[in-house]
Amino acid sequence: AKQAGKNEVRFFASAMHGAAQEQAQLERRLRRALDSGAFRLHYQPVVTLGGAESSTFEALLRWTDAELGPVEPDRFIPAAESSGLIVPLGHWVLEEACRQLRGWHDAGHESFRVSVNVSPLQFEQATFVDDLTATLERHGVSPAALTLELTERLIVRDLSGAQHKMKALRACGVEVWIDDLGAGQTALSYLLRLPLSGVKIDRSFVQTLDDTGTGQMVQAMVALARALKLGVVAEGVETPEQLRSMQTLGCEQVQGFLLGRPMPAEAVVPWVGGRAL
Ligand code: C2E
Ligand code: CA
Ligand code: CA
Ligand code: CA
Repeated sequence: AKQAGKNEVRFFASAMHGAAQEQAQLERRLRRALDSGAFRLHYQPVVTLGGAESSTFEALLRWTDAELGPVEPDRFIPAAESSGLIVPLGHWVLEEACRQLRGWHDAGHESFRVSVNVSPLQFEQATFVDDLTATLERHGVSPAALTLELTERLIVRDLSGAQHKMKALRACGVEVWIDDLGAGQTALSYLLRLPLSGVKIDRSFVQTLDDTGTGQMVQAMVALARALKLGVVAEGVETPEQLRSMQTLGCEQVQGFLLGRPMPAEAVVPWVGGRAL
């Protein structure tokens, strides 16, 4: 038994070593991808129910490595976060989103807005707000055209820092939303004390609406958000039933494969045109 235990330890150690090597390799590839301009942004529509023209798009990172092929954000974002690469990568995302917004606005689509995901490490940089306003100015983009999506992880790490930066962002006109609401452990009352513009309800709720209690929980989240005059987006809407349920629960904005998949920037204007028909 002792011998088997030793072998297990050895096996475990070599598996760990393999994982660490894989991680290091992924980081090297990420760094190269950033240097060579291999990242792209795709845009997924956030649709407002009941009329009002929808023109907000969530920017989502896409990366295809020459050897690994397309790599999922859920795989490379954690690697970028643990290596610190998320800071320059996040800068690139904001830069690219603003460049794209400027292009759309110049082409006559003045109502287009973009929502950008921001990682805790990036948001925690002392110069985050200044860098962001400088980027907006450099591209001549109105702060009102930009929304930031932050997760509760960040707020838990440094509440007063987050509050301070959110206030500054709000003062300059950039909206801040909480992403993946309900996915974490944080009390809603705590989150909703922040200067937020809205919340995105995590797709795990939208996709289990049939389970006992889930509907009531979503209803409570929507009611609370509305009482506080916050916007609400339901994420991950894949079926007409889910869409109907979210509508019934009072959710005003929805996002998901049913309404529109993430698409390259050049597909966005044709997509909007197709909806108007
Ligand atoms: P997220 O912010 O919650 O983004 C929504 C994710 O759900 C996206 O996955 C999107 O493609 C996917 N999705 C949208 N509608 C549906 C649906 O109807 N069904 C299902 N099953 N999925 C749907 P994606 O693009 O793979 O991104 C995964 C996560 O990676 C994002 O989750 C976000 O946390 C992170 N991420 C992506 N881009 C960025 C970025 O630029 N910066 C940072 N920091 N994180 C990013
Ligand atoms: Ca998001
Ligand atoms: Ca989300
Ligand atoms: Ca998510």
